[in-house]
Amino acid sequence: EAKRRPHVPYLEFDTSLSEGATRRLVIDSALRVAMARREFTLHYQPQVDLQDGRLLGVEALLRWQHPELGRVPPDEFIPIAEENGLITEIGLWVLREAIRQLRAWDDAGIEVPMVAVNCSVRQLDPDRFPAQVQAILGTARLDPSRLELEITESMLMQDPDRAMSVLNALKALGVRLAVDDFGTGYSNLAYLRQLPMTRLKIDRAFVNGIGQHGNDEQICRTVIALAHSLQLETLAEGVEHAHQAGFLMQAGCLLAQGYLYSPPLPVAALEAWIADGGVRCGRASAAPVGP
Ligand code: C2E
Ligand code: MG
Ligand code: MG
Ligand code: MG
Repeated sequence: EAKRRPHVPYLEFDTSLSEGATRRLVIDSALRVAMARREFTLHYQPQVDLQDGRLLGVEALLRWQHPELGRVPPDEFIPIAEENGLITEIGLWVLREAIRQLRAWDDAGIEVPMVAVNCSVRQLDPDRFPAQVQAILGTARLDPSRLELEITESMLMQDPDRAMSVLNALKALGVRLAVDDFGTGYSNLAYLRQLPMTRLKIDRAFVNGIGQHGNDEQICRTVIALAHSLQLETLAEGVEHAHQAGFLMQAGCLLAQGYLYSPPLPVAALEAWIADGGVRCGRASAAPVGP
């Protein structure tokens, strides 16, 4: 429709700018009451062993359903919550809810080995965060190794020194630490080597290029080699096709997550996936390499 309008460049530019700004303002104010109105839920995406599709853990992913705005994607509202500071409160809720859920699965005899929770650097307050994590795990009587915190590479590199002290405190508790979206953040490798991480998650942009872009395949191989040399696990994100899983396995990546196995699911659907054996589509990953 925009193309049928007469060409008035300045007017169009101004209009789209104010639409974007207005949407941000609307989201900003809606976020301020979202928690009290219980508009957040968590979905969980299986993380599997590439060889046999076995469930190794789940990643908790935040979902926001607003009565008028509908479903707002996290890539849109998380940056706004980071800017207005609400991420601290929201992030703490996510952590409590994910740990409460893991306790509930244990109590119900549903085997979920661990839960991964995304974390913004703004949450990494050295004076509070490690103590909060410890208290939440203690209340749920869960071993800290059942929790993995994911922090994006680009965020880790923003304020290295602050991140380092909090991550060391978390590591001392026994919590597992993953670098999310690895390969997109121009890491300082000397610095990365000093961080107490346990896992690198290969960004799905590179996984997506397997079988299409030689560069992306080379980046996957390089990240896997780097992880090996730093004694870190690698998990490939966004695995959608069996040939990608085959390539990754041959390249030495042992863990994966993606639509090939399951999208992020609400609790009941995840429980059904587990009861169903889960691994059914995972077995497809044993298919020969190549599209
Ligand atoms: P992420 O942590 O890298 O999460 C992976 C994203 O990839 C998720 O998007 C997931 O739904 C999507 N995904 C998983 N498998 C596939 C696949 O096979 N193909 C494709 N195309 N996509 C796949 P989602 O749930 O929209 O989350 C987007 C981002 O929002 C997350 O990226 C994470 O950075 C952030 N986020 C989500 N929940 C939280 C949270 O509780 N706290 C914080 N701080 N950030 C969160
Ligand atoms: Mg993540
Ligand atoms: Mg990611
Ligand atoms: Mg991401």
